[in-house]
Amino acid sequence: MVTTTKLTVQGVLQKLRKLYKPPRTFLNFRTPLDLLVATILSAQCTDIRVNLVMKTLYKKYRTAKDYAHVSRKELEKDMYSCGTYRMKAKHVQEMCQMLLKKHHGNVPQTMEELTALPGVGRKTAAVILSAIFKKNEGIAVDTHVLRVSRRLGLSKNKTPTKVELDLMKAAPKRSWGNMTTLFISHGRAVCTARNRKCDQCVFQKECPSSLTMKRKDLGRAS
Ligand code: SF4
Repeated sequence: MVTTTKLTVQGVLQKLRKLYKPPRTFLNFRTPLDLLVATILSAQCTDIRVNLVMKTLYKKYRTAKDYAHVSRKELEKDMYSCGTYRMKAKHVQEMCQMLLKKHHGNVPQTMEELTALPGVGRKTAAVILSAIFKKNEGIAVDTHVLRVSRRLGLSKNKTPTKVELDLMKAAPKRSWGNMTTLFISHGRAVCTARNRKCDQCVFQKECPSSLTMKRKDLGRAS
């Protein structure tokens, strides 16, 4: 029987840091509000598309007041190409109304306050806290982070919340900062959803999902 050396989150991060130098988020922004809106728009949408749409939104909406007071129809039209635009426009508008009501129009700086905003879950809050306020209070787990973590055997769980907990338990807080974008970089370049390129991967010998070692894909969450 072939035995595998178990990979650790720390060991994986060490190797990924040598391969990639990603920023804390791939979304472009000028202000904390820009990033909050962009992160809401990024659900089931590519970063490239969101960055494109945000270029127009930046110019038109500069403050929470601008988003809160525009007609819903107009906001929906401006967000149309990001998909699920009705829900996203509703969340952005309600979120901005709450920012005005409770935070003087500013983006709050704690996980608790951020996740109390409409449309803002732990993933969005973790991105905001890390990218803007340089606070490591969570790890944003998107589809790439979920898949790569499961394939590498770093988590057996299937939901983003549980995978996040496993990663948080396994790695010290100081290393959470750009963990998300390091995993995303690997998920985009090598450990892709379909046709993973295990023969080009630095983890090919130890990875429990390695095709080169004829192992089955542990990344499938369903
Ligand atoms: S060896 Fe294959 S499955 Fe494992 S991390 Fe690399 S690309 Fe993904």
